[in-house]
Amino acid sequence: MRVNINLFDLNQAAMRDYFTGMAEKPFRASQVMKWVYHQGVTDFAAMSNLSKTLREHLADNTCSPLPTIISEKISADGTRKWLLQVDADNAIETVFIPETNRGTLCISSQAGCALNCTFCSTGKQGYSRNLSVAEIIGQVWLANKQLGYFASRRRVISNVVLMGMGEPLLNFDNVTKAVELITDDLGFGLANKRVTLSTAGIVPGIIKLSKCNKISLAVSLHAANDALRDELVPINRTYPIRELLSACRRYSEATGGEPVTFEYVMLNGVNDSLNDAQELAKILKGFPAKVNLIIFNPFPGTGFSRSSMETTDRFRAILTGAGIITITRKTRGDDIDAACGQLVGRVKPRARNRQMQRMATGCA
Ligand code: SAH
Repeated sequence: MRVNINLFDLNQAAMRDYFTGMAEKPFRASQVMKWVYHQGVTDFAAMSNLSKTLREHLADNTCSPLPTIISEKISADGTRKWLLQVDADNAIETVFIPETNRGTLCISSQAGCALNCTFCSTGKQGYSRNLSVAEIIGQVWLANKQLGYFASRRRVISNVVLMGMGEPLLNFDNVTKAVELITDDLGFGLANKRVTLSTAGIVPGIIKLSKCNKISLAVSLHAANDALRDELVPINRTYPIRELLSACRRYSEATGGEPVTFEYVMLNGVNDSLNDAQELAKILKGFPAKVNLIIFNPFPGTGFSRSSMETTDRFRAILTGAGIITITRKTRGDDIDAACGQLVGRVKPRARNRQMQRMATGCA
């Protein structure tokens, strides 16, 4: 019987099991991973340090399909966005943001999103499905290929952020396996700190992650009290701020006191008053926290607008004055709809009503 295993779905442990399961030496895993993730080679015929029999066996029994690139857009500021087909109904987006001393790749974890944050374009299109490990790591592989990494072996992507489409902690197993491949020396070899997972606040997921991983954590807070956060980030009704902050503290402790980044999108007249800033400073007092103020990126049909720069600066000054490291995140790639919250891909939602969204989020 022909078994088609996608090699991109296997982290190092699974790859070793695969080879030992067919009575091959476990180091075959290292050889294949180096071909795939260091050389960018997926054609078994070219893997010259494997025996001919093994190459033929792999060609017959495994596959290595990746998402296909539908389009690539390049912004005036150098940001690149790829639209990637993952199946007949769904396409996702991946964004590369070059900066002076680093290059950040923003990847997606789901086709669509079930959380329905009111200011997010991805949320508006509904939820289709979790991405597989191959579809997640495939975004990093494809971006590296497009950016010339395999040819030059000069690292262009220095950081990876799980801030694209979807809620990564609702696709926990696949996301953590893909993260292993991003940080594994036989994979892309990035330091844990250079990989950031951004969550809307799935408390059990944060706690689970704290037990198995040391990557950087970012949390989309956006409001300092439950009444407002319930409206902006509806998952707050299930996991309110107090529980969220307590999980973040545990995460910080588990990573040796690393700060958690709190993202706060500045919405004109909604969450940007001096009172809001003081309330935020109060709940984060003494917390190992950094705050990223995000400029709101509008999309068709949104009822929100950007806070002015003066308001944002005043808001930041209050937080900084309270001793909290706060930066205002620059908007990048908005001319190609590649900025935060603008990623939409093409999603065929299957979770239109609340009942189905609850199923998708696993929330009661
Ligand atoms: N689901 C995860 C990751 C995806 S969103 C999360 O919620 O963290 C990545 C970041 O972009 C989040 O902080 C999100 O709140 C923010 N965002 C969403 N829509 C936005 C918009 N229209 N403008 C600016 N930021 C937005």
